[in-house]
Amino acid sequence: MAPIINKHSNNIFWFDICPNNESNFISVYVIMDKKISIIETGPASSHNNLLAGIKQMGLNPEDVDYIIPTHIHLDHFGGGGHLMEICENAKSIVHPNAYKHVSSIDSWWSGSREFLGSIADLYGKPKPISKERLISAENGFELSLGHHKIKALHTPGHAPHHITWIYEMEAFVGDSAGLWYSDIDRSFPVTPGYYRHDLALESIEKMEKLNLEYLHYTHFGPRPADGVFRETKREFELWMEIVKQGYSEDKSSKTILNELLEIRPGLQETHSSHGPHQTETHLGTVEGMLNWIRREYAKG
Ligand SMILES: [Zn+2]
Repeated sequence: MAPIINKHSNNIFWFDICPNNESNFISVYVIMDKKISIIETGPASSHNNLLAGIKQMGLNPEDVDYIIPTHIHLDHFGGGGHLMEICENAKSIVHPNAYKHVSSIDSWWSGSREFLGSIADLYGKPKPISKERLISAENGFELSLGHHKIKALHTPGHAPHHITWIYEMEAFVGDSAGLWYSDIDRSFPVTPGYYRHDLALESIEKMEKLNLEYLHYTHFGPRPADGVFRETKREFELWMEIVKQGYSEDKSSKTILNELLEIRPGLQETHSSHGPHQTETHLGTVEGMLNWIRREYAKG
């Protein structure tokens, strides 16, 4: 079934790619300027849904100029190589640190499997993209799409290769501002196993300074930006306090997560309504924070 295309503005459209039939989890954006760009692709396993969405918009795959992930975690760009194969005229724009992983996927795939376990298999194995079709985006990189530019703001923390893409006063934030669902209207942190809390907070502050109007989350959908970064920073800090407390009392990640589920309004709903990916995601976040605390304490 073809996805329903949502119109955010004259230039920005988005749809749900429903990986493994899980809806309201991963959104993909299309910028219709003179050049056509797709922001995020979702995982390899849902690339057929992505293609159906592109066709549903009345586009031919050959029309796509740029395929632009915020970062290369499998839920964001696992389907990048599949899409590049279909969109034969497109170039893909990635962070310099991601460049070698997407052109030669072995360590990307083995690292993903190590961290995600069986979820990596649900997302599916990516395909490599040849270097000739890759553009490396340093911090501050700009590209004209015709009427407006898209700009790269490096926003590490969630991942060292994370980019927030700015288009006019709107930003495609990937996972740098956590996740957000419109029905719950709260943001929660999302961190992988190797998380840098200090950089994550710095990245949120950098984005806050831009006075953005809209944020486009991958998980999930467009959100007015007013007051969001302040609230998000507070939520990240609060989680870290609770995880630190749990760490000092030698609690397991599951116990800490259960405490968070009890005290953070809305978190339980994300947990119960978003299937296996989301459940694993919250536990992974607690573990990513625990790993950060361990590394910090080891430094002394
Ligand atoms: Zn993600």
